[in-house]
Formats: sequence, C-alpha cells, structure tokens
Amino acid sequence: MDFIHESVALGVDLLILGLCVREYASYKNTVKVLKAAPQYNIDGELKNIVARQHDKKIPYAVIRGTVTPIGVPLRSSFVPTVSGVLQIVKLHEHRVMRAFAGFWAEQRKLLHESTNEMPFELCNQQHGVEIVDAISAAVLDVDVVYDNYESTSLSFFDHVFGFFTGVRQKGLQTTEQVLRDGSFLTAIGELEMDGQTLRMQPSKQGPLFLTTATKSTLIKRFEDAKSSTLFKIILCSSVSIVLVGLIVRKVYRKKRQEREEAKIRTRLESERRERRARSRPHTLTQDQLCVVCSTNPKEIILLPCGHVCLCEDCAQKIDVTCPVCRSKIGSKAAAFIA
Ligand SMILES: [Zn+2]
Ligand SMILES: [Zn+2]
Repeated sequence: MDFIHESVALGVDLLILGLCVREYASYKNTVKVLKAAPQYNIDGELKNIVARQHDKKIPYAVIRGTVTPIGVPLRSSFVPTVSGVLQIVKLHEHRVMRAFAGFWAEQRKLLHESTNEMPFELCNQQHGVEIVDAISAAVLDVDVVYDNYESTSLSFFDHVFGFFTGVRQKGLQTTEQVLRDGSFLTAIGELEMDGQTLRMQPSKQGPLFLTTATKSTLIKRFEDAKSSTLFKIILCSSVSIVLVGLIVRKVYRKKRQEREEAKIRTRLESERRERRARSRPHTLTQDQLCVVCSTNPKEIILLPCGHVCLCEDCAQKIDVTCPVCRSKIGSKAAAFIA
C-alpha cells in the first residue's frame, strides 16, 4: 500500500482522540456532579437531614471540617513529631536508561509503596462525619513530611553491567506523605447515615475528594482541565482531517493513473489490430477465414484438439472450448501455414 504511513499515523491519532474524548466526558461529568452537589455544615442538624433522605443517603454531598482521628493517631515513621491519620511511604528508584538512538534518559520507577490508614472523622466542634476508604480518593491532599535522596555509588562491575543491560541505577528516593490530624479539608462523596453514625464514602455519581481546596476552586480546576482537553480534541481532529485528506488524494491519484494507463493500453491494442488488419492478404477464400468473425485469417492452433479455426483477436476471447469440436482448450499457439 502506498499510504501505509498515513494510515498508521491516522490510527494512532484516532486512538489519542478517543482517549481525549473519554477524558473530556469524565471531566464534564465531574464538573456537572460537583456543581449539583449540595454543601452542608457539620452540625446537629445534619443527622436529621440525612435521616430524612431516601435510603438515608445523599448521593453526592460536600462537607468541610477538621481531620480528627478516632483513637490514637498514627506517628510518622521518619519524622516522629508529625502525627496523622493516613500515611503513604514510597520508594522510587532513579535510573538512567539507554533510550532511542543510544541516548541515555533519566527515569523514575516506583519500587515499593506502603500505606497506613486509621479511622478518622471530619469534625466541626463536637459533631463529626467518619470518612471511609480515604485512600481511594481521586484527589487526596496530603503533606510531604519526608523526602530523602541517596545516590548510589556504582562499582566498576556495575558500570560494565550497566553498559550491556542499558540500565544504570543513580539513586533511591524515599518519600513519606501524611494526612495530618487537625488539617482543614473539604470532602465530597456519598453521605450515609448508618445507625447513629454519619459516614462519607466513595459515590457512584462521582469520585471521592479529600482536598484543601474549596468546592468552587475544585470546579474551576476541572473546568480548566476540560478546556485543555477540548483543545487537544480539536488538535487531534484537525490532524485526522489532514491525514484523511492525504489518503483520499493518494487514492484518487492512483485511480486516475490506473484509468489513464488502461486508456493507453486499449489505444495501443486497437492500433495494433488496425496495423495487422492492413497487412493481411485481402484475397482469402471462406475456409481460410476465422470461424467466429469471418473477417481475419485463421492464425491460432488450439491444443490438444489441433483445430486451426480462430484468428488472434477471437482467440483472446475464447478460452474454454474449441468452437469446432467442443473439446477443452489446453493451450493455444500461433499456426504458420506455408
Ligand atoms: Zn476471428
Ligand atoms: Zn477442436
């Protein structure tokens, strides 16, 4: 195929376009549900409000309060003065890899991640809402309390080994993130009354958010992301249109070329026929003439039956059986009658 490159590029472009459209739809949905989500104060009234709802649930609601551990808070592993309710420790490997065309590129690879969670509430004075499954939140604003990078000292053997494998370790980075107790957060999710406790958990309508931003800031962020995705969609579509245009033009040109070639072939063929007709003897008896057209002399022998009964033009059209004896035609050859 002449347009294989364009087709591959179009395929990749359409794939990216599809991903962008999906991302756009998800941002659009998030903005919609965020705008529709009602905001409640955590106070004595909230339990009554939720209890009055169908299934004792508000599918997507916004609350704001102070993070308060239920029980003894977690201690940070690296900074003992810090306490919180959620701890994420990550170990990253920094390395250089031989990438495209022999260049070395830096990479960061997650080697290990551990999380530690304990029950906590968002509180306002003596009232609180328990947060369930905080770790699954789409936006989770935690503080980085520890970040340490140790570069690896490579031995001669490591250098040689790295040269052949194309991977060289540069260092290890350890980070610890903690959701501190006492931080003021906005939580968005499903609000449910379970017995006498209020809970906020991941909702079917939209993602769970645990963020220091307010609802309006969050909406603004998602609207910005939505517009930048829309820009990507427009860009990808334009590229697709250009590629489709290129392919169509190539196909059209190829067809036109084929048509012109066919025209030239038929013209040459008819000219050849005319030339042959002019050079033929004009004084022929009836049995010297082709049995099909009765114009041209007999010129072709059919095998295996051996009948010389066709001119060259008619022999081109007759392939299956001999017009005289009806036996199958195996092959044809020029006959020279001297
Ligand atoms: Zn003929
Ligand atoms: Zn025959």
